[in-house]
Amino acid sequence: MIPPLLQDKLDNLKADMFSKPLLGVTFSTSKSEYYYDTVSSEIIRTSPFMKSLIEALLRKTKASRLRALTEVARKHSEEKVLKGLKAIIDKQQNDNILKQFSGDFELSLNHQYQNRRANLSSMVLEITQKCNFRCSYCMYGDNYSNKRKHSKISMKKDVALQAIKYFLDNCGSENPIITFFGGEPFLFPNLIEECMEYARGINPDTKFTITTNGYLLKPPHFDFIRKFQARVSISFDGPKAIHNSHRILSGGGETFDTIMKNIKDLFYIDADYVKENFMLFLTLTDIENLGKLSLFLGENQILNELPVSINKITIRGLKENVNEFMRTLPGDTYLNKLVNEYIDSYQGDKKKLVKAHNAYFFPQIKLVSVRFPIEKSYNLCKVCTIGDKRLFVDVNGDFRVCEKSHDLPIIGDINQGLNWDAVDRMKHEFLSTTNPCKQCWAVGLCNVCWVDIYDNNGQVNKNLKEDICKIRLAEYSIALRVFMELTELLGDNIFPKASS
Ligand code: SF4
Ligand code: SF4
Repeated sequence: MIPPLLQDKLDNLKADMFSKPLLGVTFSTSKSEYYYDTVSSEIIRTSPFMKSLIEALLRKTKASRLRALTEVARKHSEEKVLKGLKAIIDKQQNDNILKQFSGDFELSLNHQYQNRRANLSSMVLEITQKCNFRCSYCMYGDNYSNKRKHSKISMKKDVALQAIKYFLDNCGSENPIITFFGGEPFLFPNLIEECMEYARGINPDTKFTITTNGYLLKPPHFDFIRKFQARVSISFDGPKAIHNSHRILSGGGETFDTIMKNIKDLFYIDADYVKENFMLFLTLTDIENLGKLSLFLGENQILNELPVSINKITIRGLKENVNEFMRTLPGDTYLNKLVNEYIDSYQGDKKKLVKAHNAYFFPQIKLVSVRFPIEKSYNLCKVCTIGDKRLFVDVNGDFRVCEKSHDLPIIGDINQGLNWDAVDRMKHEFLSTTNPCKQCWAVGLCNVCWVDIYDNNGQVNKNLKEDICKIRLAEYSIALRVFMELTELLGDNIFPKASS
């Protein structure tokens, strides 16, 4: 029950304050309290008292907002609450922040689909589904219920060349990029080389990337890699014990020593090339290994020269009884430790000891740094664009959204090109799941993936999406906190520019 006096006084504020909830989230760093205001995309420092007022105004119903304000008034005083609310009204009117969203909030993907013409910039070719490894967390392995499994099927040369021709004919970029993907692409080095030759014949500016497990990356292949200036992305999990516990040969057996030797051999042939064009792709199976990864990379003279990217375990399709890969979100204590180690590295000469920390934190910092305010019609601009920039072509020549999307609808093939009706259908299916997004504080940050909303039968599944949203929201909360911890220490000028 709201005390009548407070109710009257609140009504007298004549603010539109109670008609709708605010949209945002409060969070804390070790030093301060903050509010991320979704509508304006501002991050505002608050006092603990103002935070409690904002939290009251975030409640979903008017009755619960009033009840929560009454609770705050009991702990402090009515006067203090009224003064605080006036300060919020002042901010709404003068600074355009802390506002409820007014109008009909429509989510759309329209910005990406203005014309039905492909404007591609990169294509991933699934050269083969064959692999000489059986990594424990491989999305094509037994721990996943996904349909695509390791197989012996490989791409025929004419399929590969036709895909390349389609891509380059429909490319809107001056620097088209073709990625060779598997399975393990170096099982078919001749095909890769022939594809490169063919693509360069059509467009001499075509760039190449090869994604490999590194086991077959031997000096003889280095000639064509350098000839075509290809980039090489090596999946490699760091310290020997960690790497060997997950990345094993298909017939059983360790892989760490061979990969390390291969990298070393190529480094001694042409260190500059390796430094400029190779990168490590680390899959983080347990967040608590991050410190060990950083230490390992920092202490290894060659690996420390290479850029690193951290890949999290794919959750979609992971069988329920497999939980050993799920520790990808840090608990509070471990996150504090990581953030402190990371911050420490800026204060001394320890940067090289936080290489993996850097790879883990930077995408999160970028996610928050490049955030967008909400307009009446809101484009889901962080959601990737299907049928536009990027295309995945599987071994059969079918077009798919990406390498993780073998259970999703096919969106064309090398003979017909992109099937825009299929693309449109998927777009509508995606949007049919977005009602909860209209009340979600993370809508200005969210990069939820197409793959996360489809089940193994290629049907949109809202329950699957709900599960993923819980994980995503936890990740975005961590990202906000890490972003502000670092901003407090370093200022905001080292980050990619925010839009507001
Ligand atoms: S190397 Fe890649 S494709 Fe092969 S098993 Fe490992 S993760 Fe899967
Ligand atoms: S976390 Fe889920 S509900 Fe929130 S914006 Fe992203 S997809 Fe929508």
